[in-house]
Amino acid sequence: MVLDTATLRIAFGLMALVLVFLFYFSAYRTTRSPYSGWWCLALIFFLAGSACYLLDGTAHQIWANPAGNVLLVHGGVAVWAGARSLRTVPPPKWAFTGIPLVTLVASVVDNPATNTWSGGPVFLAAMGITIGLAARELWRLEPGYSRVRIPMAVSAGGLAVFYFFRWLAFVVEGQDGPIFVTVFGSAVTTLITMVLLVVVSFSMAALSSEQQTRALRVVASRDDLTGLLNRKAFLDLAAEQLADRTITRGAGTLILADLDHFKSVNDTYGHAAGDLALQAFADACTATVRSTDLVGRYGGEEFVLLLPGTSAERAETIAEEISRRLAAAPSVDGMDMPTVSYGISTYDDGTSDVYDLIATADGALYMAKSLGRNRTARSDRKG
Ligand code: GH3
Ligand code: MG
Ligand code: MG
Repeated sequence: MVLDTATLRIAFGLMALVLVFLFYFSAYRTTRSPYSGWWCLALIFFLAGSACYLLDGTAHQIWANPAGNVLLVHGGVAVWAGARSLRTVPPPKWAFTGIPLVTLVASVVDNPATNTWSGGPVFLAAMGITIGLAARELWRLEPGYSRVRIPMAVSAGGLAVFYFFRWLAFVVEGQDGPIFVTVFGSAVTTLITMVLLVVVSFSMAALSSEQQTRALRVVASRDDLTGLLNRKAFLDLAAEQLADRTITRGAGTLILADLDHFKSVNDTYGHAAGDLALQAFADACTATVRSTDLVGRYGGEEFVLLLPGTSAERAETIAEEISRRLAAAPSVDGMDMPTVSYGISTYDDGTSDVYDLIATADGALYMAKSLGRNRTARSDRKG
C-alpha cells in the first residue's frame, strides 16, 4: 500500500491547527509558561512548513520548498528552546539564526524549482540535531520533575533517531533509493510526526496542570502577610519530621514565640505598622535559622519554629539572635520594634505528637510572660 503524501500532509496540517488552538486556549492562555509558548510556536512552524510542501510540483516550488525546510527547522529549534525553558535556560541566539540560515542556503543552491528535496541532507541533519538536543534537555531534568518527563524525552529521542536514519539513507542511496522512499519517505515521516505531536501536546498540557497544582499548593501553605508557613502547613510538616526518626536521631526543640504588648503597637502606630513588625519578625526568623528548619505563623502575633537536632541551649541563643535582628530592623518613625517572649520545649525520639510539644512550649511561654517578657523560658527548667 502506498500512502498518499499530499493527503497525509493535509490531515497533518488540520490536526496541527486544531492542536495549536486547543493548546493555546487550554495551556498557554492560563499558565503563560515559556514552554507552552514555545510549543505553540513549534506547532505553528510545523503547520506552516508542511503547508509549503503542498506547493511542490507547482510554479511556486522554487520558493516554497526552501521555505518549508526553513520553517520546519525553526520548529525543531522551538522544540529545543521549549525543552531548555523547563530548566529556565534561554535558547542560544545562534540556534534561531544559524541553523535555519544554513538550511536556507543549502536549499536555495540545490535547484529548488525542480528538486523537491532541495538541501535534503542539511535539512534532515538540522531536524535530527535540534530535536535530539531537545531530547537531551528533557532527559537531563531531575527525575522528580514531572510524570511526563520520560514520555516527552522518549518521543523526542525517537524522532531524532528516526531523522538520523533518514539522513543516513538519504546520504547513502539518495532521494530515490528504495529504503529512503519506503521506510524514511515523507508519508511515513508525516504519520510518525502526527502521532508524536499528539503525545507531546498531551504531555505538555499535563505538565501545565501539574505545575498549576504545585503553585496552588505553595500558595495554600503560606501565610500571605509574612510568607511563612501557615498553621496547618506547619503542623503537617512538623508531624512528618517528628515521624521521621532518621532526621538528626529524632531529637530537637520547638520554640513558640509571642510578640510583647503587640496590641499597644497597633493602638499607638496603627495596624499597618503592626503588620510591618510582624513581617520584620518573620524575616528575622528566616535569617537566623537553617533553611531546613520549619518556621510558621501560628496565628496573630504568635510564631512557631521546629529546629531538629538543636539543643535547648542552642535554641535560647537562636531566640536571642532573632530578637536582636528584630530590634535592629528598620521601622516607622519613632516606633521601637516590640520585644518578644519565647517558650522552648525539647523533644527526643520518644516524642511524636506536635500538639504535645506546642502545649509544653506554651506553658514555658506563659512563664516567660509572667517573669516580665522579653526573655526565653524552657520547659525542662523551672523558674
Ligand atoms: P502580650 O505581651 O501579653 O502578648 O500582649 P499582646 O498585646 O501582644 O497580646 P494580645 O493577645 O492582647 O494582643 C495581640 C494583638 O495582636 C491583638 C491583635 O489585634 C494583634 N494582631 C493579630 N493579628 C494581627 C495582624 O495580622 N496584624 C496586626 N497589625 N495586628 C495583629
Ligand atoms: Mg498572643
Ligand atoms: Mg503578644
